[in-house]
Amino acid sequence: MATMITSECINCGACEPECPNNAITQADEIYVIDPLLCTECVGFHDYEACAAVCPVDCCVTDPNNVETEEALIGRARTIHADTDFGDTFESRFREGEGSDAPAAPVEATAAGPAPAAAAQAAGAPAAVFADSSQPSISIPAPDQWPVSLHCFACDAVYEVETGRLTIGNVLFCPHCFKSTVVKDDFNYAVRTTVQRFHDEWDRDLSAFRERRQQELQQFQERRQKELLAFEKNQRKRVDEFGKHMARLTGDYQAPGKRIDKRALLSWRSRADNSAS
Ligand code: SF4
Ligand code: SF4
Repeated sequence: MATMITSECINCGACEPECPNNAITQADEIYVIDPLLCTECVGFHDYEACAAVCPVDCCVTDPNNVETEEALIGRARTIHADTDFGDTFESRFREGEGSDAPAAPVEATAAGPAPAAAAQAAGAPAAVFADSSQPSISIPAPDQWPVSLHCFACDAVYEVETGRLTIGNVLFCPHCFKSTVVKDDFNYAVRTTVQRFHDEWDRDLSAFRERRQQELQQFQERRQKELLAFEKNQRKRVDEFGKHMARLTGDYQAPGKRIDKRALLSWRSRADNSAS
């Protein structure tokens, strides 16, 4: 069955980057999955990556779109024509039996390695969270931020680090060696602008990581709850089966076993009474 997103979606966006097939997009009201791209993660994971990260459990299998493993891996091979999935690919139909991630090219999108690619390499839900909490883009420290300066003498453009833009510092153009001095207003404008950008960057990054951390915690709590419920159910089944086996062997009339005549007689007298 292809995976679908129900109306309980809270538009958190956590699932979108996890999909190895880019099958998830944000529609007008909620996120949606393109069933022509969804492979239920067959070929990449032995679980559905979107369902694994969804904080409200609204990525569910679509009962109206049943598909075989063969059809799903066929789709994965079509979408990722340059990926070798091999014969022992990951599949939710064979949880825990697959190989490691397929030898997929890392550059999943033009924007760089997709988090899903990292997830493929990690191969486990916890690692998926960890990897997707680390954006691949980073910025230099405020003092190392490169600033382009325009030489008033030779018209060339050269770069200096913000840390060198202190009041009174003499800068030399590397092309014509003409010197210039950093004035207080220039120092203030550049340094405060860079610092402000840095502060916003750090704040957004912290918020993103905190949200990821919360999602991870919710996910792990849910998994733990599911595990406990599963264990409880399995324990109950084992108990019931034990009782069933005890009844089966207890009722066995082994050759040589003494027959309880009183029980036999009471049975016969019950039969006589009902006949009369
Ligand atoms: S089940 Fe896997 S392939 Fe399908 S939408 Fe979710 S993440 Fe993508
Ligand atoms: S993770 Fe769940 S709630 Fe968040 S956007 Fe995806 S489907 Fe919606």
